This record gives sequence, C-alpha cells and structure tokens, in this order.
Amino acid sequence: MLNLVLFGPPGAGKGTQSKKLIEKYDLIHLSTGDLLRGEIAQGTDLGLEAKKLMDDGKLVPDAVVIGMISNKLDANKEAKGFIFDGFPRTVAQAEALDQLLESKQSAISGMTALEVNDDELERRLLERGKESGRPDDANPEVIRKRIKEYNDKTAPVAGFYQNQNKFKNINGVGSVEDIFGAIIDVIEEYSK
Ligand code: AMP
Repeated sequence: MLNLVLFGPPGAGKGTQSKKLIEKYDLIHLSTGDLLRGEIAQGTDLGLEAKKLMDDGKLVPDAVVIGMISNKLDANKEAKGFIFDGFPRTVAQAEALDQLLESKQSAISGMTALEVNDDELERRLLERGKESGRPDDANPEVIRKRIKEYNDKTAPVAGFYQNQNKFKNINGVGSVEDIFGAIIDVIEEYSK
C-alpha cells in the first residue's frame, strides 16, 4: 500500500498535487478540509460547529478530524493506498493515524512537505479566494491566522515523521509539473 502524507502550509499546493497523484497511482484522496466543507454544505451539526472555527482560521478539534478519517479508512478497505492532504495537522492526529493504520496492518509510507514562503502563500490564497469562494481565503487576517496555526501546531508534525525516517521536503515554488515530478521522485524512494 502507498500511504502518502502531503504536507505543507495552506496554499502550498497540496490539493493541486493530490489530484494529479491520485490519477497516476490510483489512490484515494483524503482531505479533511474537503470533508469538513462537505459537512458544512450538508448543514450537519458537525459542519455548523466546524464552520465557526474554519472561518476564524483555527483548527477544528482533533477528535472530529480523526473520526472522519477513521470512517473513510473503513469505507475504503480495498484501496491501493491513500493521499492524506491537510491531515495530520497536529502531533496527536499523527499518533492517532499511526494507530488507525496499524490496526489495519498498514502504515504511512512517508511524508512529502511542500515548502513555500509566507508572502507567496498569502498571495496564492487571496488569488484562490476569488475563485473558490472560501470565506477563509478571502480575508488577509484569517489567512495570516491560518499560517500562524500551521507554524504553531502543524509544523511539529514534520519532526514526528523525521523521527521515523519518513520525511522529505521539496521546493513548492515552481511549475505544477516540476513539483509533481519532484513528488514522484520522492514516492519512488518510499516505494523501494
Ligand atoms: P484546508 O482545506 O486543509 O485548508 O482546511 C481548511 C480548514 O479546515 C482549516 O483552516 C481548519 O480550520 C480545518 N481543518 C482541515 N483539516 C484539519 C485538521 N486535520 N485538523 C484540524 N482542522 C482542520
């Protein structure tokens, strides 16, 4: 099984690259952001609760996203593998993911981190907001809060995978194709 964590701050290009990777490797794309937006669109209680935090640029509670990922793993038992996009975002989530996969006799193959500087992230997110209609992409203050949440709570997740020798970072600035090529090189390494 190929289980890849695509890592990086908001606006790093995880969603764009995930779409290309699932096509090439026939994997299931698990984006907790997409799953949460789905809950909001359906007007569920979970969605209503999450929306307040998301619109404010804050992380939703670990238990919420871990529960969603657990359900998706159970619902895709025959999958060739998964791309985790925007999850895990805290060390507690990373620990829970290891346990969930272990209980299914599986494991994370590795993490690939896309490195992009803060100014470029802000520019990309504001640009994306014009098309996506996402409230959290429309406001520079919320964008900066999301980047701060990433630096405070999510960046340490890289160390979690580094300790397991499952971490590689690549430059996330450049053409979509070049970055895709660099991710493929990393995947080939993890697949050896
Ligand atoms: P994203 O689409 O990955 O940028 O996520 C949008 C928002 O959803 C984030 O700013 C968080 O509020 C929430 N979110 C998505 N994934 C997670 C996660 N793994 N842990 C906590 N909050 C999350």
